Amino acid sequence: MPELPEVETVLRTLESRIASLEITGITVRWPGVITGDIEEFCSRLMHQHFNGFMRRGKYLLFVMDDCILESHLRMEGKYYIQRPDEPLQKHAHICFDLSDGNQLRYHDTRKFGRMRILPLDTDLSAFHDLGPEPFDEAFSPEYIHAYRKNRNTPMKSLLLDQNFTAGIGNIYADEILFACGIRPGRNCRRITRNDEQHLVTETRRILQEAIAAGGTTIRSYTSSLGVTGLFQLDCMVHTMKTCKVCGSEIKVKRIGGRSSYYCPVCQK
Ligand SMILES: [Zn+2]
Repeated sequence: MPELPEVETVLRTLESRIASLEITGITVRWPGVITGDIEEFCSRLMHQHFNGFMRRGKYLLFVMDDCILESHLRMEGKYYIQRPDEPLQKHAHICFDLSDGNQLRYHDTRKFGRMRILPLDTDLSAFHDLGPEPFDEAFSPEYIHAYRKNRNTPMKSLLLDQNFTAGIGNIYADEILFACGIRPGRNCRRITRNDEQHLVTETRRILQEAIAAGGTTIRSYTSSLGVTGLFQLDCMVHTMKTCKVCGSEIKVKRIGGRSSYYCPVCQK
């Protein structure tokens, strides 16, 4: 599943390719992607322009003239920018004709991704109960302290809680906890003020590096390639066999139904 850096990469790639273009036609090949009325979806987007590109957690938000188009990729959602005469793939569910003559095609083999129309004045701070973005000032050591102190949950689950902070998934949660030297199973009550500071800095550093790595792949995109945002991750613990720092064997533990990778020596 794409996490914050991948969604950000998809967004920036699309921005570089379709910014300010107008939607001149819409073909819905599988309506299940759309939440709400299909006719209304099409009529509200017709002749609208892609003016702004925003992200909240793992939601892509395209700011149009009179509405916002929300898109969540879930497991397998991908955008392609193709010529109209290029063959349609089986799982191309929605095709937007663009004013530059290309088509923006949404593919989804698993069909879990969703799109819907939001009012232009939607309050994005209270959006889907998402907590602050990791890069927002609101995600501070004081915020972490206030959020965790009365909870009784493993650190891994805290990082995956989208109400705590938006956009972190399984891979980056493991990497952040390794960078902070905290075991994924440690109770969130039992971290220190120092740990809270480290969580803020390491979360931002790791996500920033991943976004930068994604940015390097943007330049190699061509029109027929899927914009997935997925790129080679340089993981320290996630799905690793041995620790790159101390050489110990990496352990795997199920926490909250998710596999958590950690080094038993580097993480306490
Ligand atoms: Zn280690």
